[in-house]
Amino acid sequence: MSRVSVSKSKVRPAARASLERHTQRFLELRRGLEQIDYFCKGTVLKRMMKCGKAQCACASDATKRHGPYFELTYKTNGKTVNVKLSPEAAPLYRAAAQQYRKLKTLLNRLDKLSKTILRHQAKLAESMRQD
Ligand SMILES: [Zn+2]
Repeated sequence: MSRVSVSKSKVRPAARASLERHTQRFLELRRGLEQIDYFCKGTVLKRMMKCGKAQCACASDATKRHGPYFELTYKTNGKTVNVKLSPEAAPLYRAAAQQYRKLKTLLNRLDKLSKTILRHQAKLAESMRQD
């Protein structure tokens, strides 16, 4: 046995343990995906509006504005899209928007972890190289 392969065999168990840990964490996080409910990109806004009539109290008093009116706002292809929501729909979309943020956080973590695991796997594969 050459000196090089001895030092490689010392490295491998630690690398494998670390890979195992990352894999466990990946599986754990991936289970979180199943907890995600219906999701929707965007933010639900609550607005009070002026009606535009000069005689109406809303014209001079901000507390007399009409509403609330709800809308879902999100960006698609760099453009902001606003969708009017009924008062009944607003909480549903608000919850869905929260789920979307949760999903994105989870995906980002899974992405980082995947890259770490891939790096480890590549190293292990490289250490198996017969040369
Ligand atoms: Zn008004």
